[in-house]
Amino acid sequence: MKNEQGVWITPAFPKLIYVLEEDNVRPGTPYYYLTELAAKCTAKRMVPDYISEKKMLELKVDKNGEGHCYTCMGCRSFLTPYVDENGKPKYYGRFNQGVVTINLVDVALSSGGDFEKFWDIFEDRLELCHRGLQARHNRLVGTPSDAAPILWQYGALARLKKGEKIDKLLYGGYSTISLGYAGLYECVKYMTGKSHTDPAAKPFALQVMQKMNDKCKEWKAAENMDYSLYGTPLESTTYKFAKSLQKRFGLIPGITDKNYITNSYHVHVTEQIDAFTKLKFESEFQQLSPGGAISYVEVPNMQDNLEAVMSVLQFIYDNIMYAELNTKSDYCQCCGYDGEVQIVEDDGKLVWQCPKCGNRDQNKLNVARRTCGYIGTQFWNQGRTQEIKDRVLHL
Ligand SMILES: [Zn+2]
Repeated sequence: MKNEQGVWITPAFPKLIYVLEEDNVRPGTPYYYLTELAAKCTAKRMVPDYISEKKMLELKVDKNGEGHCYTCMGCRSFLTPYVDENGKPKYYGRFNQGVVTINLVDVALSSGGDFEKFWDIFEDRLELCHRGLQARHNRLVGTPSDAAPILWQYGALARLKKGEKIDKLLYGGYSTISLGYAGLYECVKYMTGKSHTDPAAKPFALQVMQKMNDKCKEWKAAENMDYSLYGTPLESTTYKFAKSLQKRFGLIPGITDKNYITNSYHVHVTEQIDAFTKLKFESEFQQLSPGGAISYVEVPNMQDNLEAVMSVLQFIYDNIMYAELNTKSDYCQCCGYDGEVQIVEDDGKLVWQCPKCGNRDQNKLNVARRTCGYIGTQFWNQGRTQEIKDRVLHL
């Protein structure tokens, strides 16, 4: 879209999703040319983002054993597979009841590194999240459809009668309710001394993921609600969690010494790893995050190397359900610079600066970065800005 000066820039919205399929992903297939156009657009504007139909059909299987392919609801939250009373897949109109996020780093630090204590504390904290989720759910129970006619009566979410309560939509899988998690990397690092990409630490990381899935399953069976594990976007909360950890446990090198914690199951942003290894590694965790998750790779300016972008897209198709490429296309309104605007430190504060003219006025800079699943253009808090500054390239 055009900015105030009529220059083409990367907008935050709309978010676009492109589904990679058998008929568009390999040379010679009928819609390959569309995928090439998508790759060109991604190289310049970060969107579209990519869903692999192949992986999704494997992972999103309904009660009849049929795989479904559908988009996320927002930046990354995925509904559970569902068929209506006529046996038809239904996604539009369904919704999520809310999220409560567990800070996995706090669980680890509270255990002091003792594994037995870790699992006990983890259990307690998960039950605390469960109570939080039940509170969200109970807030909705008994709501009459008249509270929001567009949503509940006119079809945005449902076509209920006047005066009818929304309760039936809260059970049986029509809507989901999400257990979020954050900081798997720091949690594993503290407990094992290693990154979860290390083969010695990965099994523990997967156990932590499995435990959360098991709890969701247990709660779902008991309450007939679709509890689902969700890699929380943590857009600003990353800073809040990091600050709380520092307050409770002090500065622990490699664990609490940043103003952010790592999103969901992601590889730490500073860890050197190539795009393909990262996507392959994270795909194992993505499949344990059915309520939603997104993986991305950081890439330099790829506009002159679309073949490499195509290789990444083909790799996504074969290996991971949902992924994005992050590039940089900023613009300085003072001097017309259209490369990457830098983050510099000024008196302990991180500020954005045009590398060509030194402009630091945020009102005269167009900066677009993937905050999480969405692109952000409104600038960020200090924690998230530090995380963005620390990101290494994967290609
Ligand atoms: Zn400038």
